[in-house]
Amino acid sequence: MEDVRLAARILVIEDNQANMDLMAYLLQAFGHALLPAGNGEGGLAIARRERPDAIICDVHLPRLDGFGVVAALKRDPALRAIPVIAVTALAMVGDRERLLEAGFDGYISKPIDPETFIGEIERYLPHAGDPEDARFPTHSVERHVTADEMKTHPSRANRRNNGDHSDR
Ligand code: MN
Repeated sequence: MEDVRLAARILVIEDNQANMDLMAYLLQAFGHALLPAGNGEGGLAIARRERPDAIICDVHLPRLDGFGVVAALKRDPALRAIPVIAVTALAMVGDRERLLEAGFDGYISKPIDPETFIGEIERYLPHAGDPEDARFPTHSVERHVTADEMKTHPSRANRRNNGDHSDR
């Protein structure tokens, strides 16, 4: 199966406007929807209301820092499955472990590298056509038709195999 990621709704909690602008530009250029927040409490409120697909979170933030944000997210059964990726300039040995112990699912270091940022973020997003991921049954942009699908959805499978992509 092709390794295709889905368009996702991504909450970005970042108080530095230049970093926010860069991440917003990159995420939107790759088809993702941005939910921006400029401080920790505001980010948490958006997470609870919107249930984003992933959360990118600065560590040093006003009104609840990144450690406080991730602690609150991982305490909440409704939110703890959402991947939370720290974005931070921390570079000392051991900081990665400290971030993972705090509950972050991953880590990206500043300054943000536009060449690699999207690839790093998309590792945490649901895969197109992942049968384990019931949240996204048919949102996939482009995928091969599996043998099982041919059996269970023959008309849809045939239409795709005939090159009719009108339902994209
Ligand atoms: Mn900051």
